Formats: sequence, structure tokens, C-alpha cells
Amino acid sequence: MPVPPTPSAPDAVDLGPIQLGPVFDNSYGRLPERFFARQPAVPVAAPRLISLNRPLALQLGFDLDRLDPETAAAIFSGNRLPLGADPLAQAYAGHQFGTFVPQLGDGRALLLGEVIDRDGRRVDLQLKGAGETPWSRQGDGRAALGPVLREYVVSEAMHALGIPTTRALAMITTGQPVLREGLLPGAILTRVAASHIRVGTFQYFAARDDGEALTLLLNHVIERHYPELRDAGNRALALLEAVMARQAALVARWLQVGFIHGVMNTDNMAVSGETIDYGPCAFMDAYDPATVFSSIDRQGRYAYANQPALAHWNLSRLAESLLDLMDPDQEKAIALATEVLGRFADLFRDAWTTGMLAKIGIDEIRDGDTALLQGLLEAMKAGGADYTLTFRRLADVAADSGATGPLRDLFLGMEGIDAWAELWTARIAADCRAPDERAAAMRRVNPAFIPRNHRVQQAIDAAMAGDFGPFETLVAVLSRPFDDQPAQAALAEPPAPDERVLKTFCGT
Ligand code: AMP
Ligand code: MG
Repeated sequence: MPVPPTPSAPDAVDLGPIQLGPVFDNSYGRLPERFFARQPAVPVAAPRLISLNRPLALQLGFDLDRLDPETAAAIFSGNRLPLGADPLAQAYAGHQFGTFVPQLGDGRALLLGEVIDRDGRRVDLQLKGAGETPWSRQGDGRAALGPVLREYVVSEAMHALGIPTTRALAMITTGQPVLREGLLPGAILTRVAASHIRVGTFQYFAARDDGEALTLLLNHVIERHYPELRDAGNRALALLEAVMARQAALVARWLQVGFIHGVMNTDNMAVSGETIDYGPCAFMDAYDPATVFSSIDRQGRYAYANQPALAHWNLSRLAESLLDLMDPDQEKAIALATEVLGRFADLFRDAWTTGMLAKIGIDEIRDGDTALLQGLLEAMKAGGADYTLTFRRLADVAADSGATGPLRDLFLGMEGIDAWAELWTARIAADCRAPDERAAAMRRVNPAFIPRNHRVQQAIDAAMAGDFGPFETLVAVLSRPFDDQPAQAALAEPPAPDERVLKTFCGT
């Protein structure tokens, strides 16, 4: 989009809160003042609604008749408040690439409030890019269109893939450029999350030795995300265990679809178990466990295959923050936490193995199955095979054992995959499951469409030039990732050599 001249933002746009339907109940805002900074969004000059996720808006109780584009632009820019909102910036700390920063906090985001959705589920509504807050440090509190668009596309794709994630409710452009590599169009994402409470939120209070706040936070998180732990004997330990179980399952799901988060800092790990903070994230094309996209991840700390180990590392930081609440005797607390953390590897491996074997059409595990799976991954790595398409085409072979051509075409040398396919065919023949049934089950777990990095980049480039068509097409196609959509087959293909995008940027 051509960058418009900088218009001055309106001083205050105060038409009063507007009733749009959602039922707000802001429990985080009832915590003590030191948990957040209450403040309104900084108004923007010329908000324009680019995208509204209508099914999600309905689910949240919005009255779509009242949410005309102008009103939506005013609401999702923060220029006007929905009735019941109580905007605030949340405090948190975090380890960034291994280094502890005792004070981070929402520097460019505002929690509008919590909404009880149509199923009685409590969710946060957050404006990302809403202007300066007390935690902006040197930042401008704003977001550029590119990263907002990436988060919109990828988070919605993850949701459609069945992976716990924050959602994208709306995207607006602000009419105000932001200064990054150069001047870029500004945008705001309205994000929906089970909550925005992070490992770093616990670290914030632990670093201040604020036991009272830690207890309040623990109780809040249990009420909100883990009510089944209300009566646990050791609530802090039980919470660690429960968060660990969700994170182990989550990271296993990431690996199964080839997702690389890119910035798994402790401030970007939600205790709810949702994927959060899509920065330089990307999906892998050719299978290589060492894949890294983020330009700032120079050591490959958050490479594809390192993600389980880094999740465990982050959970250890959560454990440290909770030690005082686990037991007054520190040594005893450490022993308890260490025992729990020691179970991460098994939890992860079980979740990963079950999901990966489902991808190759095996649902009743026998001896030798994990070795068979490893054999496929080795052949894929050696052959530079596309991760997503290998599994999708394997489903075609499951339906018709003669249909190996398209699968073989994904591999540079074919001996590896040919030998493996023979073993696999023999293995699945030992199960009594009809070929069509197996193929259908495989297609339900192996997507045809993922947000390919080059397609996301093309959508961003087009949007910057004022054309949101490719973005809209991508969002529509990715909302049904497991369906073959022949008219959009090109979006399922890996990049041609000259289309490859090897680096992604935070863009903050
Ligand atoms: P991230 O790495 O994107 O998760 O952000 C890390 C920290 O930097 C958080 O405290 C953010 O609020 C803050 N931050 C990122 N971008 C900006 C910005 N443009 N203005 C102010 N703070 C920012
Ligand atoms: Mg973050």
C-alpha cells in the first residue's frame, strides 16, 4: 500500500462506549493494580477495516448488523470502546533467547477486556498495535501491516488445523505509517485468546519476590484454565504439571504440521496451552529438522527440532517461579518440581509418536512402528522431500498402492523412499482396515494446505501494494486445510527455487 503522508491523530475520539453485543466480564482487571496499567488506546487517524472474522465475531456475541465497517474500524482500532471494555496493558517479564528481562509487559498491545462467548467460554480481546503503554520502552507501540497479516493468516490456519491457538478477529489499517526498515503502513490486529497470561507473567512477580501476587495469579489461572485443580493438595505443583501436559501436546502438534514458532521466549508461552505471539513463525517446506526462519535466531535456538527441548526449558522457568508456593522448604520444592519436569520427555514422545503414526495410517502401535517412522523421516531428509506433501501423497498410496508416482516425485533420489514404501505397505497390510478408510483417516490428519511461507510473503507484498485479494484467498483456502481444493491447487505446492523465502522477520 502506498504510504500516506502522516496525518495527525485525532486528539480524542470520544463518542462514548457503544453496545455491540458481547458480554464483558473483566476478571483480570479485578486483580491488584500492580498486575497491569489501565489506559485507553492511543487513537489513530484513519482506521479502515480490512478483515472481520464474521463466524468468530458471532461466536463472541457481536451483533453483526451493528458492526458495520465504519463502526468495526472504530472499535478494532481502539478509537471507540465497546460497552463493558476496560482497556489495560498487562505486566510480564520473560527470558528472551535465554536472557532474563525482569520487565517486558504489553508494549504495543492492550487488553480490551474479557468476553463470555456463546458457549460460556471466557476469552480475552486484545488490540495488538494499539499505541504506547508504560511498557513500550523505545518502541512506538504500533505494528506494521506485514506482521499483522502474517499473524492473522497463520493463527487462523493453525485453528483450522485443530491446533490450540489465539485467533484473529479483525485487522484494520491505521492510516498512519510506522517507521521500521523504512516507512510501512500501520495496522492493528484484534486477537482473541483464552488468556494472555504467560510463563513470563509468573516470572514478573517471582522476580519481585511478590508471593502475594504469585498466589493471586496462581488462583486466577486455576479458576480460569484449570478448574479441575481447585482442590489439588499442592496447587502450584499441580499447575506446573497441567501446563506441562498441555505444552507437550501443543509442541507435538506443531512438529506434526511442520510449524516453527520462531520466538519461544518465556513471555511468548501462554499458560493456557495455546500457541501465542506469531512473530517470525513459518512452516517448513522441505523436511529438515534444523530449519530456522527467524532472522534474529542466529544460533538456531528455536529451530524446528529444538522446540520440545525449549518448551521444557521454559517450563523449568515456570517451575522456578512457583517454587515458593510448592513448599516452604526450598530443597523439597526443587525435588518436587524436578520430578514433575522429568516427565516431560515421555509426555512429549507419546504425543508425538501417536500423532506421527496417525500421519502414516497407523492407529494401533506395534513393535517396530517408531523405527518405521524414523526411516521415513530419514528418507525425507536425504531426499529433500516436502514435509506436508509427503504425508498427503502417502494417503493416496494408502488408497491405491500403485499410485506412488506423485510421492516419488517429491524425493531427489528415489531409492530411499522406494525401499521404505515397501516396508510400509507390508506393515499396513497387516492391519485389517480397508484402504479407503485408512486413506480418509490419513487425509483428516495430513493437510493439503498449510500457510506456505512464500504464499504468506506474496500476500503481504500484495497487501502493501493495496491489494488484499491474495490475503483473502489464502485465509479462505486455509480455513479448510484438509479438503482438496482443485481450483487452488497452486497454493498447496512448495515454492519454486526462485520463490523460496528463507528468512522471516519480527518486524516489531
Ligand atoms: P515480542 O518479541 O514481539 O514478543 O515482544 C517482546 C516485547 O517487546 C514485548 O514486551 C512487547 O510488548 C515489546 N514490543 C515489541 N514491539 C514493540 C513496539 N513496536 N513498541 C513497543 N513495544 C514493543
Ligand atoms: Mg511477545
